[in-house]
Amino acid sequence: MPELPEVENLRRYLIRERVPGRTFASVTASWARTIKTPSVEEFVLGLRGRTVRDVHRRAKYLNIELDRGSLVLHMGMTGSLAVRGPDDERQRFAHTIFDLDDGRRIEMNDPRKWASAWLVDDPSVVFDGIGPEPFDPSFTAKHFAERVKSKRSPIKSVLLDQSVLAGVGNIYADEALLRAGISPARRAHRISAGRLEALHGEIVTVLAHAIDYIDDNPLEDGRPFVTDAHDARMQITRAKGGSCPVCGGPMSSRQLGGRTAYFCSRCQS
Ligand SMILES: [Zn+2]
Repeated sequence: MPELPEVENLRRYLIRERVPGRTFASVTASWARTIKTPSVEEFVLGLRGRTVRDVHRRAKYLNIELDRGSLVLHMGMTGSLAVRGPDDERQRFAHTIFDLDDGRRIEMNDPRKWASAWLVDDPSVVFDGIGPEPFDPSFTAKHFAERVKSKRSPIKSVLLDQSVLAGVGNIYADEALLRAGISPARRAHRISAGRLEALHGEIVTVLAHAIDYIDDNPLEDGRPFVTDAHDARMQITRAKGGSCPVCGGPMSSRQLGGRTAYFCSRCQS
C-alpha cells in the first residue's frame, strides 16, 4: 500500500514532470466508484479547462491545487500515477485518466480499484480529522509523547491511527518500533515519555530515509516505484523465517488490529 513516502515521491514526480502549469483538456473516469465527490459527470466536466497550480501532499493524499479548488487523490491499496506521452500505450488498469493540454496524460493505474478522487473547493473537507504531519516542525517529540501517552491501545495500533499521526502505515510503524526497541503490543500509556520521544525520532528517520531511497531509485522511465515490502530501505524482512537485523535472532509476527506486525521479542519490550 502506498504510504507517506510513496505519496511524497508521487508528488515530487508530478512536479518533475512539470504538471504544474498544465491545463486539463479532458478526463476519463471509467470506474465510477473512484470518484467520491462530486458526481462522475460533474467531476469530468468540472476539471476540464482547470489549470494545475501546484502539487501538495497531506498524509497519504495528493492535493493537486488548481486555479479553482483542488483535485485530491488517494491511491488506495494498489493505485499509482504515471505521466504518459501520446505514443505510450494505455496501462491496463488506468480507469481514471487526466488528459493534459500538451498531449500527455496522467494515468491513475489501479488494479484493485480502491483509489479515490475528489474535486472540491476546499481540500480540508477531505482531510478532516487527520492528525499532524510527521515532518511538520510543530510536531515535536514532546507533542508526540503527549498525544500518545493517554492511549490504552497497543502502540502499533496508535501509530496506525491517522488521527494521532498522519501517513504512517503498517511497514514503517514496524520499522520504527524495532529501531526504538518497543514491542508493537505494548500499551501506549505504559511506555515512558522518554521512550516515546525516542520513537518519535525513529518515525521521522524511517520516513525520511524511505523518501530519499525512492528518490534515488526511480523506475527506468523515471516513475517512482510504489511497493510495500522487502526492499533495501527496510531492515525487517517481512517473511517467515526472517532474522532480526539487530540481534540476529528469529523475528516473530502476530496480528494486531487486523494488520501483521513483525517484531523481535528479544530486542523489543
Ligand atoms: Zn533482535
